[in-house]
Amino acid sequence: MLKNKNVLITGSTSGIGLAIAEGFAYQNANLIINGITPESNCSSILQELSNKTNGRVLYIQSDLTQVNQIQSMIEKSISELGSVDILINNACIQHVSPIEEFPDDKWDQIIALGLSSAFHTSKLCLPKMREKQWGRIINIASAHGIVASVNKAAYVSAKHGAIGLTKVIALETAEENITCNAICPGWVLTPLVDNQIKANAKKNGWTYEQATQELLREKQPSMKFVKPEDIAQMCLFLCSESANQITGSKFIVDGGWTAR
Ligand code: NAD
Repeated sequence: MLKNKNVLITGSTSGIGLAIAEGFAYQNANLIINGITPESNCSSILQELSNKTNGRVLYIQSDLTQVNQIQSMIEKSISELGSVDILINNACIQHVSPIEEFPDDKWDQIIALGLSSAFHTSKLCLPKMREKQWGRIINIASAHGIVASVNKAAYVSAKHGAIGLTKVIALETAEENITCNAICPGWVLTPLVDNQIKANAKKNGWTYEQATQELLREKQPSMKFVKPEDIAQMCLFLCSESANQITGSKFIVDGGWTAR
C-alpha cells in the first residue's frame, strides 16, 4: 500500500528519523531524506537506503529553523515527485539549562525546529494531500509532550505544542482521508540522548554505563531504551489502511515513563 507513496522525513540522517526512513524503504516508498549536512556527508546512508527500496531516494539539505529553506524543500519535493503523501515531522534538538540561564537563541531554535517547522511543512504539504484526497502527517513529539522535566523549557514547550498542532490539523482535515497523529517516545538511544548521558557522566563523575542506568532509572520504568525501529513500526501502522480512522491521537511508546 505504501509503494510509490512519497514520504518526507525531516531530520532523517540519524537516529529515529533514519530508522523511519529504513522502515518506509522496505515498503518501496519514495523517500525524501532531510538533514542540515551537505549531501556528500550522507552518501553512505543514502546508498544503503537506495539498496532497500525500489523507489527513489532524494536528499534535501535544509535548515528547518529557516522558513525560506522549508519552502524550498517542499517546492523541490513536489517538483521532483509530484507530492508529499506522508509527512513525518521528526527533526529536533535538545538543550538542557535552567530557565534563568537558558540562552534566548536556543529557545528560538528549539521552538522553530520542534514546533514551527511542523506548522510550515504541514501548511505547504496539505494542498496536494487535499487534491489527492489522501495524506498522513505524523509529528514525532515525546514523553515531554505529556509531562515535563526540569531544565528543558524549550523542548517541553515545543513538544506540548506539537501535540496541540496535531489535534488542530486532524480536525481541519478530518473529512478528507488525511490523518494527523503524534508519537511520543520515551528514551531512545540516539545522538540526542547519547549527548545527555555523556554530559551527566561528566557532571557527576559517573562512567557512561552508570550515567545510562541513572537516566533510565529516573524516567523509564522498563529500564530499557525504546528502539528507533519501534517508532518506525508505529509510523508504518499509522500509514496503513487499518489506521484510516485514527486521527488527532497520540501514541506513547515510553517504557512506562508517563504512567507514573
Ligand atoms: P538525532 O539527534 O539522532 O536526529 C536529529 C535529526 O535532526 C538529525 O538528522 C539532524 O541532522 C536533524 N537536524 C538537527 N537540526 C536540524 C535543522 N536545523 N534542520 C534540519 N534538520 C535538523 O535525534 P533523535 O533522537 O533521533 O530525535 C528525533 C526526534 O525524536 C526528535 O524530534 C526528538 O525530539 C524525538 N525524540 C527523541 C527521543 C530520544 O530519546 N532520542 C525521545 C523522545 C522524542
